[in-house]
Amino acid sequence: MSLENQYDSDNIFAKIIRGELPSVKVLETEKILAFMDVFPQSKGHCLIIHKTSEAVNFLDVEPQALSELMEATQKVARAVNDSLKPDGIRILQFSGARAGQTVFHLHFHVLPVYEGVVVAAHASGKPADAESLEPIAADIRAALS
Ligand code: 5GP
Repeated sequence: MSLENQYDSDNIFAKIIRGELPSVKVLETEKILAFMDVFPQSKGHCLIIHKTSEAVNFLDVEPQALSELMEATQKVARAVNDSLKPDGIRILQFSGARAGQTVFHLHFHVLPVYEGVVVAAHASGKPADAESLEPIAADIRAALS
């Protein structure tokens, strides 16, 4: 069913789930992890992943895991809206390298859009440091609780 890539248990997000790589988290449950995108395209750009599903992309994912992901994505989007007050929010998912997917562990982007602020390019530029992401994540976490 995959658009070419097979699941690799050493992908960046699998390492983040296992705690082998750092991340700035906004929500963690038994099934779900949401964290700040390290190349944020706008202030508050978050990623939502499933911790046990080995889906590479939207085509692969089991209905139960998809449902859990969608519920968490909506929760995070609502918290981003409440805490950061963007003018709009894009929910994005890229399936396959040719569609722009760069990490092959299914994820959804919550990308806030602010009037008059250009959305940065996807997955490029200089990575943000944890110190600059943490206060934004703290605001989102506060809105989730
Ligand atoms: P995709 O291109 O697969 O839709 O999205 C992958 C996202 O992961 C990109 O937006 C990229 O900025 C982000 N990303 C890549 N490497 C890392 C990382 O090590 N940590 C975090 N938090 N985000 C990452």
